[in-house]
Amino acid sequence: LPVTGSMLSNQDERLVEEAHRIIALRKKPDWHSVGAALRTTSGLVFSAVHLEAKVGRIAVCAEAVAIGMGAAQGDTNIEAIVAVNKHGEVVAPCGMCRELISDYSPDARVIVPTQNGPMVVPVLDLLPNKYAG
Ligand SMILES: [Zn+2]
Repeated sequence: LPVTGSMLSNQDERLVEEAHRIIALRKKPDWHSVGAALRTTSGLVFSAVHLEAKVGRIAVCAEAVAIGMGAAQGDTNIEAIVAVNKHGEVVAPCGMCRELISDYSPDARVIVPTQNGPMVVPVLDLLPNKYAG
């Protein structure tokens, strides 16, 4: 667990609440167990749930679905993003999502769990030696 990071702003706290809301509303055993919410620099909020699949490795993370929702609205400039599991705990993004978030928004801030509770960190701090293509 990273110990360093910034405190959440009020907007960040609301983003965590939105991720809580969406997974509490949509959780479904074997199908949806993680929710994510992102806020773009223009202030739009997109929230989504992850897509489990019978072939486990084709499951799609909630963060990726939320980014896709933003893309469909023409807004992928992520300011902050968070994921929450079905137990209501903030969870760090997986490695693939770190790549995806930073591809679309290298300046994105990610809310991650720490020993001191959820904190905000720059996405690139979570991804040393990012894939360069
Ligand atoms: Zn992921």
